[in-house]
Amino acid sequence: MKLTTEGLKTALLNTADQIEKQKDELTDLDREIGDGDHGINMSRGFTAVKKELEDKDSFADLGELSKLVGMTLIKTVGGASGPLFGTVFVKFATKWNGKSSVEGDVLYDGFKEAADGVAARGKSKAGQKTMLDVFEPFTEALKSDEPLETVIENALAYTKELKAEKGRASYFGDASKGLQDPGALSSSILLRQIAEVLNG
Ligand code: ADP
Ligand code: MG
Ligand code: MG
Repeated sequence: MKLTTEGLKTALLNTADQIEKQKDELTDLDREIGDGDHGINMSRGFTAVKKELEDKDSFADLGELSKLVGMTLIKTVGGASGPLFGTVFVKFATKWNGKSSVEGDVLYDGFKEAADGVAARGKSKAGQKTMLDVFEPFTEALKSDEPLETVIENALAYTKELKAEKGRASYFGDASKGLQDPGALSSSILLRQIAEVLNG
């Protein structure tokens, strides 16, 4: 498994297209346990990312690409999720600066830094029914032989049954059990696209 600058760029463009396709689904989920804007927020963010990527011929390395994506998401997504998704890419940049291809421990370190960064920023941890419940198992799976697709699917199924303890969904208490967390679903969209380029 290897992530190159071109690979990450491809994954991001595919994520933007997939977010557009699932925009209404994301918003509907957020209507049930939030304020009904997650699809709109993510669509706004990834449309901006796509434009930035298409406007620029090439990126020096994974650090430069990740930093631009992180800053763009922070500026455009809004809500609770904007700074959190932005943090993922800003943290990638701190580990992958100057590198145009990462694998093994360096690949893992970027994801670990990102997951820890989201936890710190959101004052959250795995098990609270948020995007972290997909990011953390994905990160740990980079060290195992388990197919990433399966890990993402299992993480989503597990997250769905949890009781929300962070963000707006936490106001729904026990009623949140059995409903999918919108941020977990959007994270799975991004991570599926990354898994696809990692698997080559
Ligand atoms: P808002 O709740 O401000 O409207 P969004 O609807 O865009 O923002 O994003 C909601 C998603 O953000 C949730 O589904 C959850 O996955 C994620 N989220 C919210 N708060 C936190 C937190 N403290 N830690 C981790 N993730 C969080
Ligand atoms: Mg919302
Ligand atoms: Mg909102």
